[in-house]
Parts: sequence; structure tokens; C-alpha cells
Amino acid sequence: MTTKSLNPLPLKERMKVPRQHMPEQAAQLRATNFTEVNLGYSTELARQEAARCLECAKPACTQDCPVGVKVKDFVQLIMAGDFLGAAAKIREDNVLPAITGRVCPQEDHCEGGCLMGKKVQSLGIGYLERFVADYEQRHMDLNKVPKAPPTGKKIAIVGSGPSGLTAAGDLVQRGHRVHVFEALHEVGGVLVYGIPEFRLPKQIIREQVDYMRAMGVEFETDVVVGRTVTIDELMEEEGYDAVFIATGAGLPQFMGIPGEHLNGVYSANEFLTRINLMHAYEFPRYDEPMLDFAGKNVAVIGGGNTALDAIRSALRLGAGKAYVLYRRSETEMPARAEEVKHARQEGIDFQVLTAPVEFLSDGNGWLTGARCMRMELGEPDASGRRRPVPIAGSEFDLPLSVAVIAIGTSANPIVQSTTPGLATNKRGYISADETTQRTSRKGVFAGGDIVTGSATVILAMGAGRRAAKSIDEYLTSGTW
Ligand SMILES: Cc1cc2nc3c(=O)[nH]c(=O)nc-3n(C[C@H](O)[C@H](O)[C@H](O)COP(=O)(O)OP(=O)(O)OC[C@H]3O[C@@H](n4cnc5c(N)ncnc54)[C@H](O)[C@@H]3O)c2cc1C
Repeated sequence: MTTKSLNPLPLKERMKVPRQHMPEQAAQLRATNFTEVNLGYSTELARQEAARCLECAKPACTQDCPVGVKVKDFVQLIMAGDFLGAAAKIREDNVLPAITGRVCPQEDHCEGGCLMGKKVQSLGIGYLERFVADYEQRHMDLNKVPKAPPTGKKIAIVGSGPSGLTAAGDLVQRGHRVHVFEALHEVGGVLVYGIPEFRLPKQIIREQVDYMRAMGVEFETDVVVGRTVTIDELMEEEGYDAVFIATGAGLPQFMGIPGEHLNGVYSANEFLTRINLMHAYEFPRYDEPMLDFAGKNVAVIGGGNTALDAIRSALRLGAGKAYVLYRRSETEMPARAEEVKHARQEGIDFQVLTAPVEFLSDGNGWLTGARCMRMELGEPDASGRRRPVPIAGSEFDLPLSVAVIAIGTSANPIVQSTTPGLATNKRGYISADETTQRTSRKGVFAGGDIVTGSATVILAMGAGRRAAKSIDEYLTSGTW
């Protein structure tokens, strides 16, 4: 039900109100700490921003959201000062609002569709979502979290990233018993092991997971499905009625250039896991082994969110010079625009149209630098982006103590190789129907990065929602 508009501003006037700026830590200060960069809207800023909404009859923001959040309705509730009501409205479609409010690429979804954005700046939907979720966090009572009557059906979810968590949340709300198996010792997938504290504090994820526990979701960590237990054992011996595989795409890719084996060359996955999950950023409270590169040169190779997270983490750990080496131009860079802006403000040196062709050694197995080449853009390749072409004679050497490879990831094969009859594509990702998330195995569904390859939090969540809906239909109807 849509709340009646309480906005006294005529539509034309709303267009004149500038988008409210998100308060943030000063760049020089934040480059030295792991505390969150964005500080969140105050109540006043949130209400001012909400008042900009044009309250469209057919809101494109909701159509463009992969989980269909009812943006207009929750924004109207903010206008009305009913922040808990706004949170409940978001939760109808999104079980992780404090997370999507922080890391979702809103510019490609809700804010990309916002009518306001066609003329002036789009409504700050992500900032408002974050405000509401944080408000809810401060005021909620976990004892009052609603629970659905049990259906007697039992579902196993493999992987606790955003896809698995979303499916778990939706299924438990339908009264099914949901058990999430996670290989690592902490729940959250990339949200905990990949995205650093300064963008997404671990406490936020823990609180969202606590909420899910209160809803009735069961979590079990340190279980590698395919090793500790197989999908067949879960279904045949442990009595699960359906399984949702959401194992992500966490296997690092390398460049295949000379010197990649040297000490000092990390995959972004390892680098960020050591910093985030193993708490290297809290040395000496946690004594996680990392090279001491304080004052030295560090470069990341790649131009996505992962690359920027790695290099901004290196800067915070004291790197002297911190470079991004990216083989295309900034226009093609896949990282979110806000992250590129923040990284630049912090002093990251972007070397675009540049790629290493060899890592250089001191002769004792340690990295001393990268031999790089400058690139120019040629014809579009299969991805539709213009292909980088090396410029002859442009080689130069960049002195480095650490290089972090962030050029993408692929599928971990453990579940696929231990589940007979589970169809995969030629790149090793699980084949699943785009609408139902069904796989080739009866009762087994899959979604998120393990189906699409590395994508985004909200797309993984969208797959989790679709899977939950079709698992529910399958369990209710009994037909496959
Ligand atoms: C550093 C980094 C930064 C990113 N930043 C952003 C961003 O700002 N915005 C955005 O939208 N997207 C971002 N992404 C992408 C986004 O995080 C992923 O697309 C998303 O997390 C995929 O969700 P998922 O649930 O499919 O898998 P994942 O988040 O990868 O979770 C999969 C989980 O399954 C577990 N698992 C794997 N195999 C097994 C097994 N055999 N048994 C049990 N558990 C298993 C893994 O340990 C993991 O916890 C980023 C990615 C990275 C790496």
C-alpha cells in the first residue's frame, strides 16, 4: 500500500533542491585508518533528501532494482518520519538493506532509472536506504522479529554470501527450516572477506546476520560442501528437501606473465582475505603474517572494485606510493564511480592504459618491480569494450615491493565435481535456469556468482530471491 504523500513541496520546486551530500571522513585522515569513509545521513539530511522524490506514478527505481525494493513507498515513510516503517517496507524485498545501502551500484539500478536523474541529480536512494537500515539497527528488538509458522520442509543453502543470505531470509519468512553451510569461519562471503572495513564495517554484516538468526535461519561455519559433506549426502542422508548452491566465484585468476611466482606478488583474494577476515589491519592485536610494506611502493593490477579495495587497503597499511595499473582507460573502468573518486582523493596514483608484462626479481625470489607497457585502445573485443593494444617501444620499469593481481576470479570446482549430474558451462559455472534458478539436478538450485561469474551484490541477491520463490513453489507443489 502506498502512503499518501506528505510532501508540501510542489514537483517543480523539488527539482531545485540539490542532492544532499553524504558526510564523509576527510581524505587525508581516512587514508590512514580503516574506519568507514561515508558517515551516513542525519535524520534532517534524510528527510531533506526524501523530500526531493518526485513520487512517480510508475517508479522506474523499483523496476530497475533486481530485488524490486518499493523505493517510493519507503521514501514516503521517511517523509512521514516513520523510519521503522520504512525499514519494514524495504525488508519486504531486501533482507540486507544496511549492506546494499552501502555497496550496491545504485547508479546502474534504482538511481539510474530515477526520473530526477534525467534532469538534475538522481534521488540519493542508496544513502536513504542506508539511513533507514542504520536507524532500524539502533532501534530494533530482536525478540520482536516476526516468525512464520513452520512448514516442516528443510532447505540447505551452500555459501553465505549475499545470494545465499537472501534466499535464506526469503525462505525462512515462508516458514521453511533453513540451514546455511559456510566454508569459512565467518558468515558473509565477499562481504566479509573481500570488501574492506572502510566501505562495509564487519559489525554491520554481523548485525544483519543476527537479524536473520532471530528470524530462525541456522548457520554452520567451517563446512566445505563437497568435502565435509556432499550435496547427495545432504539430500539422501540428512533429509534436506532442496538445496540452493551459492558458492560464489572466488578462485583467483593470474596473468601468466614471468615473475608472477615471486614473493611480494599476491592475488587480490589472498591479500584482502588476510587484511579483512584475518584482521591484518588490526596488527598487533591480530598477528596475521603480511609483508611489511610501510613506506614502500605497492601496485594493484586491474580496475574493478576489488582492485580499488586492495590498493586503498595498502595505502591504509602505510604504502608510500600506491598505484592502480589498468590496461584500458578510465571510461572502461568497472569500479563504482564513487570508489574511483574516493581513491583519487586519498592519493592513489591511477596509471591507466598501462599493463605489466613481467615482474622483476632481486635474484633471491623477491619482487623489485614491474616492467610495464603503455597501451592504446583498438577495436571492441567480445566484451564490447575497446581492446587494449600495446604501444611498441613504450616499456618502462616501475619499482615495487608488492603487486596485487585483481584481474578477476573464476568458479571453484569443488561442489560441481562432487555432485554427479550437475550440469556446468564450459567455464565451469553451474548451469541454472535464469528465471527459476533450477539446475539439471532435481531439488537443486543455484544462483549468484557461481552461475553468472563475478557480478554484483544486488544481482546475487536477485538470484537468491528468484531461487527462494521457485524452491517454495517446488516444495509446495511437489512438482519439478
Ligand atoms: C573485493 C571485492 C569488492 C566488491 N565490491 C562490490 C561492490 O562494491 N558492490 C557490489 O555490488 N559488488 C561488489 N563485489 C562483487 C560482489 O561482492 C559479488 O558479486 C557477490 O558477493 C557475489 O555473491 P555470492 O553470494 O554469489 O557469492 P560470495 O559473496 O562469493 O559468497 C560465496 C560464499 O560461499 C562460500 N563457499 C564457497 N564454496 C563453498 C563450499 N564448497 N562449501 C561451503 N561454502 C562455500 C564462500 O566461502 C563464500 O562465503 C565485490 C567483490 C569483491 C571480491
